[in-house]
Amino acid sequence: MSVAKQLYQLQEVDLELESNEQSLKQKASQLGESPEVVRVRIELSSQRQHLEELKRQQLSAEWEIDDLTSKITTLEQKLYGGSISNPKELTNLQHEIDGLKVRRDQLEDKALEIIDQVELAEVRVVTVSDELKRLEAEWRHQQQSLTIDIEQLKATLSDLEQKRRLILVNIDPHVVNLYQELRRQKGTAVAKVDQGMCRGCQISLPTSELQQARSGNLVRCSSCGRILFLA
Ligand SMILES: [Zn+2]
Repeated sequence: MSVAKQLYQLQEVDLELESNEQSLKQKASQLGESPEVVRVRIELSSQRQHLEELKRQQLSAEWEIDDLTSKITTLEQKLYGGSISNPKELTNLQHEIDGLKVRRDQLEDKALEIIDQVELAEVRVVTVSDELKRLEAEWRHQQQSLTIDIEQLKATLSDLEQKRRLILVNIDPHVVNLYQELRRQKGTAVAKVDQGMCRGCQISLPTSELQQARSGNLVRCSSCGRILFLA
């Protein structure tokens, strides 16, 4: 096998290695906590706190209403019990009862509003909680398939490394150095020759270079410097 062909094979393995390494890096970066799951988890927690706070407000309003009702009952018993006969005292008592009733009506309106809010908050908690479950299931599934992909990529990389070592054994280290240097400079070190043209730089090659390459010698493109490979 000509050196150019060996180098071309080496390059194919190297390019495949590069692309697999890139995929591995990209997939590995997706492993771990999902920002969306974290965001929805925080939202659920804040919606639950909001619901608890509303329930506390509801309870406190209901206690206050009960309290007012028992005060009103006591005062009404006093008012109608016949124990007070002083008209001014009776009027004052009536005023006090009326005031407490107004306060109780206000509280009852407020309690109804809070109950509406509690219902809305309960629906919201269920919605967000369902969304979180869905996202977590999706995330688990994605992590599993990522893990499988990563294992496969690692196996492929190890096969390619092995292939690379086998190719390298048969190439002169000086030529390998030249190849590495060209790869660093140009990305590709070996260019195919197609219809008399270097595919590295798309320049038509002089006949002498083509002949040299055809005979299996290591020839570099006079234009771009890449090693020429005639398939
Ligand atoms: Zn060229």
